Amino acid sequence: MSGQRQSKRLDPMSTRNTDWFWDEAAEGRLSIQKCGNCGALHHPPRPVCPECHSTDRIPTPMSGRGTIYSLIRVSYPPPIGFDEPPIIALVELEEGGIRLITNIVDANLDEIANDAPVVVDFERTAKGKSLPVFRLAGKAGAA
Ligand SMILES: [Zn+2]
Repeated sequence: MSGQRQSKRLDPMSTRNTDWFWDEAAEGRLSIQKCGNCGALHHPPRPVCPECHSTDRIPTPMSGRGTIYSLIRVSYPPPIGFDEPPIIALVELEEGGIRLITNIVDANLDEIANDAPVVVDFERTAKGKSLPVFRLAGKAGAA
């Protein structure tokens, strides 16, 4: 777990359909919604499976490994909740082609290539929630 100093990160928005995702993150798990009927994985969480319309949803822990599909660093307007502009990335998990919008932490933009392998970590938000972020695999501090 990183982010020992007081975090300024904004907290996730709580909704009926997403609270379980943040509860899993608080336990250090990156879990994705799996349909209890057809087995399809979906992200972000949603009330109904778009494949079979089932409302049976199963939080399913992922490996936490993936690759960077795309990334960007937005400098203007200044980001809220960060000292420095964060690297915003679309990370594709190794399971099922699931993609998450997330941050790449402890890396410089010029050392990151598309398809770079990454591993999940969790950072605290201002009010003590936990947020999945990713680190370059093989770098110090990463699994
Ligand atoms: Zn389904």
